[in-house]
Formats: sequence, structure tokens, C-alpha cells
Amino acid sequence: MSGAERVSEWPRSVIVVGAGIVGLSTAWFLRERGVEVTVVDRRGVAAGASWGNAGWIAPGLAIPLNEPSVLRYGLRSLLNPAAPLRIPATVDPGLWAFLARFAANCRWPSWTRAVRANLPLNDECIEAYGVLAANGVAAPVEDAPITAGFRTPRQAEGLLHELRRMAEAGQPVDHTPLDARQLVETVPLASEALTAGVRIDGQRYIDPGRFVHALGEAVTARGATVERHEVADVRSDGRKVVVVARDGAVLSADAVVLATGAWLSRLAGRWGVRVPVRAGRGYSFTAPVDHPVPGPIYLPDVRVACTPYQGGLRVAGTMEFRDPDAPAVEARLRAIIASARPLLRGVRWEEHTDVWVGPRPVTPDGRPLVGATAAPGIYVAGGHGMWGLAQGPATGRLLAEQITTGKQPAALREFDPLRR
Ligand SMILES: Cc1cc2nc3c(=O)[nH]c(=O)nc-3n(C[C@H](O)[C@H](O)[C@H](O)COP(=O)(O)OP(=O)(O)OC[C@H]3O[C@@H](n4cnc5c(N)ncnc54)[C@H](O)[C@@H]3O)c2cc1C
Repeated sequence: MSGAERVSEWPRSVIVVGAGIVGLSTAWFLRERGVEVTVVDRRGVAAGASWGNAGWIAPGLAIPLNEPSVLRYGLRSLLNPAAPLRIPATVDPGLWAFLARFAANCRWPSWTRAVRANLPLNDECIEAYGVLAANGVAAPVEDAPITAGFRTPRQAEGLLHELRRMAEAGQPVDHTPLDARQLVETVPLASEALTAGVRIDGQRYIDPGRFVHALGEAVTARGATVERHEVADVRSDGRKVVVVARDGAVLSADAVVLATGAWLSRLAGRWGVRVPVRAGRGYSFTAPVDHPVPGPIYLPDVRVACTPYQGGLRVAGTMEFRDPDAPAVEARLRAIIASARPLLRGVRWEEHTDVWVGPRPVTPDGRPLVGATAAPGIYVAGGHGMWGLAQGPATGRLLAEQITTGKQPAALREFDPLRR
């Protein structure tokens, strides 16, 4: 087959299901390559995890979840309803099968493999945001270090150890240990309970809702359409794909990208994607503050992330394995406040607003699912867990390359959706 004939085989039209950071980034980079794009979301732009997250574009901290210590921590958490990790004692065989698979991956070789696999996304994530911001996505990307605070220098040693392991696995992180005085100078909100810190340089943060909405507008300005439908089924006849919505709408294109976050397995499971994606739900809220917040604050011991947000502080935390659509649980929010309150001063916790719960799309092996499925023309992009906001634009760019060239970029090999 000649090159000219082959080119005509690449999709000219693509439907992207899911208008979060991953779907919209894929749409943006597909438009960049001249593909006709329709984005479909059941609730509109940034309706899933991409709205209320902590907003960190933090390659230095994009540590895969499947660390061996998480397993010990998870087992202890089962007995403590206020722990940052919550696994409800429900009879959900799918969840327990997922957790068994996750537990099997909580070993250093799997973790190191996940770190190495994620390297290209982490290396490219800030630059990919730069491309979007320089080409019509009208929302700021802020440059600031992330500062972690600890009760004791020994606890700080835990993060320093983790950063050393990241460096050994190929991802060096520019960081500086801080004593109590340096910590308060860097983080005016740090309370006396925090006596040690680690400053991680070279990171960025955004207002995620604002950025993803700006991305949606940029995608539309580039000629894509964004429609609201809940997709019930996706099929391929080998030549065209057909997307069937619950409201009866039927859309057709040369290819489809399923970028439905924590809901990914529902549509992709039929097409040979056996690695499950489950919702690791997190909560956030905004609280007014009495001191300036120069940059994001990380409280690793209570697993809370804080970010400057609209003049206040966005506080995010908790990992709760529940249905992505289940309502927020007030006790989880209270647990975040109770754990962070002693560590920060000048935060008006009781005046908090914007309470939000959203589902991190978690895979059991710390690697997202990005690429072609077993059905011609059906692709998936998701499962980035704790770091999908940072990695979304780099993912979209690589997947757009694969779709429009027919060649899997080397950086996507470890994310093969058909892996076991
Ligand atoms: C508390 C918290 C803090 C976080 N902090 C950070 C952080 O600081 N940095 C970072 O990098 N990541 C962070 N994350 C993770 C990040 O938010 C996610 O990894 C990322 O947003 C996932 O993006 P997505 O586009 O894959 O999914 P989503 O944003 O969830 O988008 C999926 C979309 O698919 C749509 N959809 C689902 N099913 C259907 C259907 N059948 N038909 C049509 N549409 C459908 C949904 O409505 C949704 O809009 C955080 C997450 C949480 C919960």
C-alpha cells in the first residue's frame, strides 16, 4: 500500500467522550492535527475529577500510588473511619477484585515500573501546559514551589527517602529540606506543630476548573463542537464507530476516544480493556485565610493538599473507594478539617465553601490506560489516578499523534490498554 493511500486511512473525524482535562486535551491536539472533533459529556465541561482537585502540575510529586507502604497503611485504615484512606465495608466483588490486584502491585518492582512508565508524561507535563497557554487557552499557570510540612524531622525523612527513590528510578526532583524557621518563612500558614519541611521547586499550579473551562472554549474556538449526551454504548464496524447516547442521539465518526475518567471501565470493558479503573474519591473545599499563601502546601502525614485559590485556600484530601456518583459524606470532610486544623494557623475552617467530591480514576498498577483497544477506531485515555490533571495535556498530545499517524509513540507503550 502506498504512503498516500495509507494517509487517507487515518481518522478524519473523532468523537471524544468525556470533557475533563484528558478528553479536552486530546480534542485540542487532534484539532491541531486537522481532525474534525466532537466532544460529548453527560454533564458538560469539567464535570468530573477535573474541577475541584488541588490543581498541582507537580511532576516532582507525581509518585504512583502503589507504594508498598500504602498497603500497610490501607490495612490500618480499615479500622479507622477518620483515616485519609477509606474503603467502605460493602459487598462489591468488583471493588475487592480491584483491591486484590492493587495489593499485588504494591511491590517495589511494580512501583519502579510505574515511575519509569510515567516519566515521559511527567517530563512533558509543564511544557504541554505551556503549549496550551501560549495558544489560546486563556487561564493562568502559576509557577511556585510546593512546600511539604511535617511534625517531626523524622517524618520529613520519609518524603526525602521517597524523593531519593524517585531519583533512582530516573526522575530527579529539585528539593530543599527546611527547618522550622525556614518553613514558617516559606509558609506563613504553618503552625507551631510543624517543625520541618521540604520545598519542592520547579512545580506549577492552576485553578483547575477555570483552566479546563478555558480549554473547552479554546477547543470550540478551534472548530470542535461540545455536546451534552450520556453515552450508553460505543460500537465499531471496522470502518466507522457509532456512539449511542441515552437520550437517543446517535453519532458516527472515523474513531472515538473514551476519556471518561473513573467511569472508563463501563464503556471500555467490552473492548478488551481488562485493567479496571475505580473511583478513588477525594474531597475539597475553600476556606478564607488570615495570612498570604505564596504557593501550594502539602501535609503528607494527613495526606492533605492545599492550594492558593481565589484569595483563599483550597483544601483537598481523602481517598475513598466508592461509586463515583455516590453523594458526598460529611464525615469525610470533617475528618480532613480535623486532621489539618492543628497543622495550619489563620485558616477560618468553619467558614468553608465550595464543598466538592470527585473521583480520581485509579488503576491497580499505577499506570494509566492510553491507546487503542481491541476494536478498530476505539481508543481510551484515562486512569491517571492522583495525577491526571498534570498529565492530561501530555497524554492528549501523545494520543493525538497515535491516532493521526497510526504509530504508537514509545512513551505510550507502557500504557497499553490491552495489557493484563
Ligand atoms: C481531591 C483531588 C485532588 C486532586 N489533585 C490533583 C492534583 O493536584 N494534580 C493532579 O495532577 N491531579 C489531581 N487529581 C487527579 C485529577 O483530578 C484526575 O486524575 C483528572 O482530573 C482525571 O481527568 P479525566 O479527564 O480523566 O477525568 P474526569 O475529569 O473525571 O472527566 C471524565 C468526564 O467523563 C464524563 N463522562 C463519564 N461517563 C460518561 C458517559 N457515559 N457519557 C458521557 N460523558 C461521560 C464525566 O461527566 C466527566 O466530565 C486530584 C483528584 C482529586 C479527587
